[in-house]
Formats: sequence, C-alpha cells, structure tokens
Amino acid sequence: MIAEIVAVGTELLMGQVLNTDAQFIARRLSEAGITLHRQIVVGDNPERIRQAVRDAIARADIVITTGGLGPTADDITKQACAQALGLAMERRPEAEAMVRAWFAKNGREMTENNLRQADFAKGARILPNANGTAPACIVEKDGKAVVNLPGPPNELTGIFDSSVMPYLAERSGAVIVSRYLRIFGMGESSVASRLQDLMETCENPSVAPYCSTGEVQLRLTARCKTREEADALLDPLEREIRARLGNVIYAVTQDSQFHMEHALVCALRQSGKTLSTAESCTGGMISSRIVNVTGASDVFLQGFVTYANEAKVRALGVREETLAAYGAVSRETALEMAEGARRAAGTDFAVSVTGVAGPGGGTPEKPVGLVWLGLASQAGAWAKALHLTGSRERIRTLAALHAMHWALEACREENAGE
Ligand code: ATP
Repeated sequence: MIAEIVAVGTELLMGQVLNTDAQFIARRLSEAGITLHRQIVVGDNPERIRQAVRDAIARADIVITTGGLGPTADDITKQACAQALGLAMERRPEAEAMVRAWFAKNGREMTENNLRQADFAKGARILPNANGTAPACIVEKDGKAVVNLPGPPNELTGIFDSSVMPYLAERSGAVIVSRYLRIFGMGESSVASRLQDLMETCENPSVAPYCSTGEVQLRLTARCKTREEADALLDPLEREIRARLGNVIYAVTQDSQFHMEHALVCALRQSGKTLSTAESCTGGMISSRIVNVTGASDVFLQGFVTYANEAKVRALGVREETLAAYGAVSRETALEMAEGARRAAGTDFAVSVTGVAGPGGGTPEKPVGLVWLGLASQAGAWAKALHLTGSRERIRTLAALHAMHWALEACREENAGE
C-alpha cells in the first residue's frame, strides 16, 4: 500500500509552524508497513489543495491530509478533497451531535459556522475527535482512501492512534499492536547504545525511541494477523530490553500518553495511599501534573506552593532556625517541608522540592541546578540532592519528575513490603 501526505496550511509553507504532524504520520505509517512516497505542503488555497489531492490520489492508495478542518472560511480541506474525488458534501447528524456535545461539555457557546465541521463528503466514515471540535474522516472511492485530519498535533495524534491505525490495519488485513516502555533515570544516548542493534535490525516488531525532558519512551510495535501473534512477538522483545536496561523502566502501557504522574496516581490508587506536595522552585508544577490525571482526587489531597521562607514557616511549620542555619535550599529544609506537608494535609506520603532553578541566584556552595528533594511517610523522612543542568524550565521540569519518581518508588516499595 502506497501513501502520500498532503499537509495544508499557509503557516507551514511560511515556516511559522514546523510540520510535526507529517513527521508523526510518517513514523506511524512505517510501523504499519505502509510505504510513504511523498509529503506535500500546500497553503490554504482551494484550487491548490484540490490539485495536490487529485495528483496524490492518482499516484497513491491512501492520501492523508492534515489541517483545515476548522470552522472558518479558510478551513476548506474537506470540501477541496470532496471536489477532487467528485463527491458532494452533506451534513451528517452524528457529526453535528459530536460538535454540539463538544461545546456543551466544554461550556462554550457554539456559533452556526461551527456546524461546517459536521459537513462531509457523501459516504465519509467519521472519526471522533476527543481533543477538539472538528471530527476527522475517511472518504473511500474506487479503492482509494482520503483521510482528513485536524492540524493541532494533540488532536491529530489522538485520532490517528485510536481510529486511523486500526483502519490501516483493517485495510492491510493485519493488527498493529504497540507497547510503550517508559524510562526514567537513563539518558537517550545510554538507552540507544544498549539497544542499538535492536533499533537498527528489528522490523517486526520494531523499536523506536522518543525523548522528552528527562524521560525516554520506547515504542515496540508488532504487525501481525492476530493480537495473540503480536503479543507473542512483543513479549520476548520486552524481556530482552528489560534485561539490557535494568530497572529504569517505570511503566509499560498501551497508551502513548501515559506519563510519570499517571504511574504515580495509579500506584497510589492501587495501594489506597494519599499524597501531598510542598513545592518551592517547581512552583506547583508537580501538583498541576498530578491533577491532570483523571481520578487524582482520590489520592492527591493537597499541594503547598511555599516560595518564600515565610510561607515555608507559616504553611509547613519549617523552623526559622533551620532556615537561618542551613538556608532554604538544604537537606534540613527539604525534610521539614515534606514532614510539614504530610502533617498539615494528613496524607500517607508527602514530597517536597527546594532548589536553585537559575539563571541567577547560584553561589559556589549552592550553584544553579542544586535541588533538594524531601520525602516523608509513616516510615520516616529522607532527603536527597540533585545536581541538574540546563535552563530554568528544564531544571524545574527535571526536579518535578525526580520528585514524582521518588514518590512512585516509595509507594511501590511500601506496597511490596506490606
Ligand atoms: P482548528 O479547528 O484548530 O482550526 P484545523 O484542522 O483547521 O484546526 P489548522 O487551522 O490548519 O487546523 O491548524 C491549527 C493549528 O494546528 C496551526 O496553527 C498549527 O499550530 C497546528 N498545525 C497545523 N498543521 C500542522 C502540522 N502539519 N504540523 C504541526 N502543527 C500543525
């Protein structure tokens, strides 16, 4: 099966936005065993979109477009594709219901032009969009298929994984199963050097790394006739990777959007334990990430953002003498912050962060990047220092990740010990 991508958007042509959608789709197509022959970028111009899609359909079996599904006059991708295929447009009641439901759920007023997002080429298969207003679609004609996806990457990736990958598998008579191994505590290059041969030679199942600040995610993908066959290929590969990487894998999921906070909330829920946080340099980053997880309210009771010394004393009961003797960024303060949060919130665990995020404020004894973490539980309280590097944002992100990872390990250890 041959595919082409037509990315629509003047902002892409002008270089204002990087075409990450095409990169994502290209990787996924290769996992699905589909050959990608061309990527085309075209501006928001109806004639040029029509022409690009017409040409692509003449060459390929599947044409995937990105962008231009919004409600405004320059969002014309679906219409242009319908014209290229020689199909009329029609309003689809089920899509209208999806658009209306999205506005109702998000408490936003819907204007009439939003209903353009419920118009599709005749016979289109509609794909729900969990993260935005515009449903996507697949239009088939004469054995060829055109897939129209929205531009915003969070919308596109969700629809691609939940609806387009199964469709591609169905068309090629296979199932595509992915497993995501989430790694913390080992850098990208170390992971790559340990797995280089697997990444270079394994085609089915394949191994692909993705990195974000502080974390590496490996996606293992198998393409087989049945799910059982796919699992039979993935199990030994996962075992091999575990053997090579040791215990840095903190979660294995089927969901690409599973992060440290999800693992932490899961572990706390499974053990029926609760958590609070005391944050200084991360300024609420940890609590914000945790409350992004559905169901966090069962386990996350309170987050303290205590930036000033005075706030650490007032809200957490950190002793003034401690701050005077050791300073805010110290083992002693981190310990008292965690103990104070645990006491004030009445939780099983509390984690604290206090550090020098920079770029200013560092001293020879306490340089930028020095971060103290504290952890308190029924069993006691501990502190540890991190020596982080990079921008202020990176130091704060890494500190938050380390804190959540420590709480995750503590929760799992306590579970194992009980
Ligand atoms: P919306 O309903 O948000 O208008 P849409 O499907 O009409 O969605 P566009 O208006 O084309 O999408 O793009 C919306 C935004 O999505 C762009 O401003 C850009 O930030 C992002 N975007 C669009 N196409 C791409 C792409 N190919 N790669 C990465 N980001 C993209």
